[in-house]
Amino acid sequence: MLTEINETADSDTFCATGAAWMVEEAEKIYNLPFNDLLFRAHSVHRANFDPNAVQMSRLLSIKTGGCAEDCGYCSQSAHAPTGLKASKLMEVERVIEEARKAKAGGATRYCMGAAWRSPKDRDMEAVLAMVRGVRSLGMETCMTLGMLTLAQSAALAEAGLDYYNHNVDTSERFYGEIITTRTFADRLETLANVRDAGMKVCAGGILGLGETTEDRIAMLLTLANLPVPPESVPINMLIPIPGSKLADAPAVDPIDFIRTIALARILMPRSHVRLSAGRTDMSDEMQALCFFAGANSIFVGETLLTADNPGEDKDAALFGRLGLKPMQLGAAE
Ligand code: SF4
Repeated sequence: MLTEINETADSDTFCATGAAWMVEEAEKIYNLPFNDLLFRAHSVHRANFDPNAVQMSRLLSIKTGGCAEDCGYCSQSAHAPTGLKASKLMEVERVIEEARKAKAGGATRYCMGAAWRSPKDRDMEAVLAMVRGVRSLGMETCMTLGMLTLAQSAALAEAGLDYYNHNVDTSERFYGEIITTRTFADRLETLANVRDAGMKVCAGGILGLGETTEDRIAMLLTLANLPVPPESVPINMLIPIPGSKLADAPAVDPIDFIRTIALARILMPRSHVRLSAGRTDMSDEMQALCFFAGANSIFVGETLLTADNPGEDKDAALFGRLGLKPMQLGAAE
């Protein structure tokens, strides 16, 4: 087994065939001895990126709570008594002002998230104005607004939206255990619309929903085997939300989390793998191993939509200890 994988170690992808990744291949890699897995993931990382540069994004909730979807992990679902107060769509000028501050703080990408099943036509004008405004600051733009039609995707692309985030969350097999108000196929359809409209794709998932290792591997295979893999792959660790269906979900084993990051890096060599929600529950050492295994993007700022995130001082201290630096805009993509 080791020989087989070593033989492909010089290739970009470690994919023996150059075609779609197979489950057996991915499982073999995931289950390598930890040191071998990390060595291989780091080798792929180093061949494709500056290993000491981390892309920094800032995420703003432009419309919070009251969402019609029933995602079992989310504080913003109207189906869960999480106590979160719903708000209206933010004013365009306020969003642009917040983006300006984020840029001054070193963020190169500004992500705007709305708790919607999908945007309504009446909201599109404001949303498009936000894209144009943030883009005019010289930042990359990303939005997550729920499901999109091809026409909505085209309008966002036309306004200058660089990335659209739409996570597949988990494996197709396990999806219905977590979300019942839409299907895995719906997710893939939106991702296809975003790609067809010419935008870059940000799509990842969440660990800690009660899924198996096989589900985690299947989720990464779905992403890696898209016609074009996502340029950004956020890997989240569940933050259990009181009142949500997953309030008492058991914690993810840190070694399993790092293995998943390493597999994501190997399957998607040129993607930014983002260490996303859950960093407040990760030790510095765990984050350091994630960066070594190929994570090269984080969200900065005290909050991530409605969840806590390490403060900028804490991240600056960690970057200092690890000799990491913020990735410059446009690097390696
Ligand atoms: S994850 Fe998004 S779509 Fe699902 S309930 Fe939360 S805000 Fe709504």
